[in-house]
Amino acid sequence: MQLLLSMLRSISFALFAVFALGACQSTASLEKTMKKDSHSFAQPEKARVTHLHLQLEVNMEQKQLRGKANWKVVYGPSVDTVVFDTDRLTIEQVNVNGAPVQYRMGPTDSILGTPLFVPLPLSSHLDSIAVEIHYSTHPEAGALQWLSPEQTNGKTHPFLFTQSQAILARSWIPCQDGPGIRFTYSADISVPTPLMALMSAENPQKKSPDGHYSFRMPQAIPSYLMALAVGDLAFAPLSERAGVYAEPAFLPACAQEFVDVEKMIQSAESIYGPYAWGRYDLLVLPASFPFGGMENPRLTFATPTIVAGDRSLVSLVAHELAHSWSGNLVTNATWNDFWLNEGFTVYFENRIMEGVYGKDYADMLAVLSHGELIETIEEFSISSPNDTKLDIDLKGRNPDDGVTAIAYEKGFHFLLLIEKTIGRPRWDAFLTGYFSQNGFGTMTTERLEELLTTELLSPEEIASIGVSAWIHDAGLPTNCPTPHARRFDAVDAALLAFGKERILPSSSATKKWSTHEWLRFLQGLNDLSTADAGSLDEAFDFTHSGNAEILVAWFQVAATSNYSTPELADKIRSFLIRVGRRKFLTPTYKALLENGQAERARAIYAEARPGYHAVAKGTMDDLLDYR
Ligand SMILES: [Zn+2]
Repeated sequence: MQLLLSMLRSISFALFAVFALGACQSTASLEKTMKKDSHSFAQPEKARVTHLHLQLEVNMEQKQLRGKANWKVVYGPSVDTVVFDTDRLTIEQVNVNGAPVQYRMGPTDSILGTPLFVPLPLSSHLDSIAVEIHYSTHPEAGALQWLSPEQTNGKTHPFLFTQSQAILARSWIPCQDGPGIRFTYSADISVPTPLMALMSAENPQKKSPDGHYSFRMPQAIPSYLMALAVGDLAFAPLSERAGVYAEPAFLPACAQEFVDVEKMIQSAESIYGPYAWGRYDLLVLPASFPFGGMENPRLTFATPTIVAGDRSLVSLVAHELAHSWSGNLVTNATWNDFWLNEGFTVYFENRIMEGVYGKDYADMLAVLSHGELIETIEEFSISSPNDTKLDIDLKGRNPDDGVTAIAYEKGFHFLLLIEKTIGRPRWDAFLTGYFSQNGFGTMTTERLEELLTTELLSPEEIASIGVSAWIHDAGLPTNCPTPHARRFDAVDAALLAFGKERILPSSSATKKWSTHEWLRFLQGLNDLSTADAGSLDEAFDFTHSGNAEILVAWFQVAATSNYSTPELADKIRSFLIRVGRRKFLTPTYKALLENGQAERARAIYAEARPGYHAVAKGTMDDLLDYR
């Protein structure tokens, strides 16, 4: 609560400082405090939201949310309008301080949606006012995925979840939808019984008998972290402050899988300071969730494809947990600065994994990340070289275009290089200060570069790292670290033996292999004949693997070597229909397309598409030329 008050004070002070200055000066200081966000219509330098009370009724049959968003808006003298972002919302009425006003919708932009202009009474000083927007959502709202009972584990009840990042919050809440604008919120949500509602807030652990749920989020967050899920859910504790929600039949497997979560939180805290959000819970969603995870504060949303039965894919939890610092606490100011969220998080995820599972394990993750980086650099260098810059310009494009290995893996390797150049003690001390001094605030690429070059690095270190080239130039600097993993040495030897003399790895060796070692093996197979692939499948039964990462790597091997069996064909089809995680869809469809199976890929897609989330549909429509 103290944190909240001081934060509100600092926001008000920043606004006041700006408004108190003359016109010329105020423009200068605004540029310093707010970076222009080309993906939002809001003008937060004039009027900005600070708190939301959301009241919504969830209609699972009509696929609609209906209710009102009551915003507290702070605005300066001579400001007469506050601007909100909306996307296909039906606005029914707008009240300012309780009285209806004549609002106006602006022209619709295909990426940004439609601005909503609400008139404000003129004031001679910094003022605040209540703006209440009555609205309902469109059945095709980009953030909302409505699942039929058949798309859930239990097959009995429908399910709803939101995905607000990057600019989809505006499709379910009229809001100032930029990552640089933070607000606290409370909510009253009504859902059909016996479903449970959860948000990125303080959450219930039991179902409410009347379907009414109240939420409170006392820490300020940007709109892309607004989240809601509704379904037949149950809770299991993992520790005093951590737990997991899932559909009841799947809950025991999830609780088993995530048993190390408390250790991860403690490992993270030992590196960069206290966890700032109270509880850390996980929600395991049905398989159509388009991402691996989404770092909704207090409640990470996760794909069920990481529940492998052997805890081998829990690095994803470390990643989402790391976002509690990088991203949720210190947030990218605009989507052009997205690498600040993701590069720092991949780096931090690796440190957490090292803390919990040891350096050899974390090294394998780093090597796989390096492989992904090299592949992406090669691909983009031909098709879109400017997209290999950390400091990307996404103006006029969907910010989703920036969700690539560049933000994640190039960002990670840049930070790894800094760590290797100056040593962990100095680097960790800097990062601890970075999170504590900028907590609940935003960061720009420019500001980070300034911090690195004026507060951390010597001129010699700046030159040897090549800070500016790493941030602003396309391609990959030649001093990019090349991680090495001892545990991959045995895999590489096995690959060599198979490549030269078709000697299969021995079962005594492979029984110790983790998912990561299997991925290294499958990704390292080259020029495989159809018969080779067949003998591998016979020996290791990849076609029947229950591990989604291994399966997808195997699908690619099979496609490039023209290996197919009726069982494999059926497995690919059922996997693509059941799973909506974009990370798996893209390489699988690509492998089919590039290996003479375009027609089959399109037939499966036509069948699977209705079950995918809008962001996955967007990517796959382009990939598969879907009209
Ligand atoms: Zn992330």
